[in-house]
Amino acid sequence: MIPVSGFAGQRVAVLGLGRSGLSAARSLAAGGARPLLWDDSPEARARAEAEGLPLHDLSSAGAFEGVARLVLSPGIPHLYPAPHPVVAAAVAAGIPVDNDVGLFFASLGRGDWDGFDTPPRVVAVTGSNGKSTTAALIHHVLGEAGRPAQLAGNIGRGVLDIDPPGEAEVIVLELSSYQTELARALTPDIAVFTNLTPDHLERHGGLGGYFAAKRRLFAEGGPDRAVIGVDEPEGRFLAGQLAEAPGDDRVIRVSGEGKLAGPGWSVCARKGFLAEWRKARQVASVDLRGIKGLPGAHNHQNACAAYAAARALGLGPRQIEAGFASFAGLPHRSQVIAEAGGVTYVNDSKATNIDSAARALGAFPRIRWICGGLEKTGGLSALEGRMGAVVKAYVIGREAERFAVALRGVDTEVCSVMGRAVERAMEEAEPGDTVLLAPAAASFDQYDNFEQRGEDFIAEVRARLG
Ligand code: ADP
Repeated sequence: MIPVSGFAGQRVAVLGLGRSGLSAARSLAAGGARPLLWDDSPEARARAEAEGLPLHDLSSAGAFEGVARLVLSPGIPHLYPAPHPVVAAAVAAGIPVDNDVGLFFASLGRGDWDGFDTPPRVVAVTGSNGKSTTAALIHHVLGEAGRPAQLAGNIGRGVLDIDPPGEAEVIVLELSSYQTELARALTPDIAVFTNLTPDHLERHGGLGGYFAAKRRLFAEGGPDRAVIGVDEPEGRFLAGQLAEAPGDDRVIRVSGEGKLAGPGWSVCARKGFLAEWRKARQVASVDLRGIKGLPGAHNHQNACAAYAAARALGLGPRQIEAGFASFAGLPHRSQVIAEAGGVTYVNDSKATNIDSAARALGAFPRIRWICGGLEKTGGLSALEGRMGAVVKAYVIGREAERFAVALRGVDTEVCSVMGRAVERAMEEAEPGDTVLLAPAAASFDQYDNFEQRGEDFIAEVRARLG
């Protein structure tokens, strides 16, 4: 655990008692602060009480008297579409608002790193898609190369739950836009931006706000190195803004769509080959095609970002290549769960938005596609032209019929439930086909979360394969 420094003897309000709220409360207490906890849900409050953490009704009048700071959970809106009333009250009372990530950066390494020859470093990964995969891949590559590393943030442990880092240790964080938007301190040594596609726009007041939230990791004069995906205009703009000149190698440009021109440092993937360029020369390459844990162009983009971060940390190309080869992939992200009778079964339940589903559809030949669920705003029209590999779609979800109608230009069958979709896809699959769950929709109409949906798919496939 990282004790929070700077609040000894002070009252700090914590709103939202999920994983990050409880972990912030423990770290605050460990640093000598007096956390005051609140959550709208009685169950969440009961959990905190059971741990012996003190509750304090933050919705009551005068609740913020003598409070030094409000620490907020990522699920609670602080501005858009409308601030939570407790946040509004704190803001009106002039109380600074922060989150666990801000407390983490403000508390990390205070004083106790003086004895290290090589101080610990923090790599922070943000972006719309591929954050978890990229962060996990960086962590895995470091581990395989024998470098001490910890993974935290949106994946694995909460940021304040990591062990105090030792000599030369690397902390790899996956940070969402909700987390980067609110954190008052945000000072990674290496910052990674994977890509940008519209998501969560209601919480950020539109695409500009969403980009601004992610961009905060790259404050000018901030990270020593910035690894930036430049396949969208926002990434290109950001790279251009951070670089002092075209050859400035504090910025490493990354592309999953082919070679980048220019004298700077870049890593790009094309037709399954990763290439590293410096000063207009290719300095290394890695064949990504046979790597089972990283299928498809989207994962090759992630591999480029992870490669760049690992290079910035001093690893050699062959060390990184060896780490890639043993990366198993993450559950629910292009995860190969079975191969039988020449048919491959892939679980990409995490493809909850159109872009991630479109990427998964581009990663395999001849797809029997299980899709559907709670449609996100923006509709399915963005999938048009990206379903060329789909032999047939098997549609699930409470509104499967409406979803199927919106899938213009592909053969569809309304299956409504997972069991039926898996059964029909298996019956019709031929050798060389991939049965792919990549819903292009949220799961909440039929499941608690995307993990549960993925587990259901796995269970249905395994039950039939015996
Ligand atoms: P995040 O943590 O940003 O949500 P994940 O690594 O968990 O990213 O992947 C989320 C979804 O996006 C999965 O469906 C995955 O297959 C897909 N995906 C992964 N990497 C990319 C990428 N670089 N571009 C687009 N989609 C991606």
